[in-house]
Amino acid sequence: MIIAIDGPAASGKGTLGKRLAEHYGFAHLDTGLLYRAVAGVLIDGDVPLTDQDAATAVAQNLDVSHLDNDSRLRGAAMGEAASVVSAYQPVRDALLAFQRQFSVQEPGAVLDGRDIGTVVCPDANVKLFITAAPEERARRRHLELLRRGEQAEYETILADIRRRDERDMSRSTAPLKAAADAVTLDTTDLDPDAAFQAALAIVEAKHS
Ligand code: C5P
Repeated sequence: MIIAIDGPAASGKGTLGKRLAEHYGFAHLDTGLLYRAVAGVLIDGDVPLTDQDAATAVAQNLDVSHLDNDSRLRGAAMGEAASVVSAYQPVRDALLAFQRQFSVQEPGAVLDGRDIGTVVCPDANVKLFITAAPEERARRRHLELLRRGEQAEYETILADIRRRDERDMSRSTAPLKAAADAVTLDTTDLDPDAAFQAALAIVEAKHS
């Protein structure tokens, strides 16, 4: 069983993915972390993000074993950097096999990202496309960063979200878009529990 979750930055797809995975006892992969990790290695090595060959080599040799424990990857700067390297087709190609292998494990897997339903798992049993208004996503991301003790300005975050939406939607390779057979869930007016219940209802309806 594969649950594919896509959506723009800070739409709540990561939290939803985690909760759905816990609910069903499935594995969960936040695929944004893969792109963030590639960007992180480049930044650590003082390699410009514009160096596509270097980014590709990093993606081909990425150590995926402790992505979850690296809190630095979750910061705003890394999200921005990730959206630069994720536009390179060879980087995406290098990360595809790992994501596909992850998706086919038993009893099931939940993957969240931008192109899970369209490219990584086109045959997923359930596809969710999670959206929310940019202002609401910025509000959530702002709170999350403040809670983690990061310096954060709401207006800067909103601008960052708009820029990343634009870059992720307009790129020629695997642009952010809902798969034709995805169910769209707008969480603008939903708290995390209500969003989870709504997502759960969609999954149950799809695979019952
Ligand atoms: O989801 P998250 O904000 O962690 O993703 C960081 C960036 O990685 C996104 O802005 C997007 O450019 C890229 N990404 C992607 N495809 C995915 C997951 C993330 O292109 N499946």
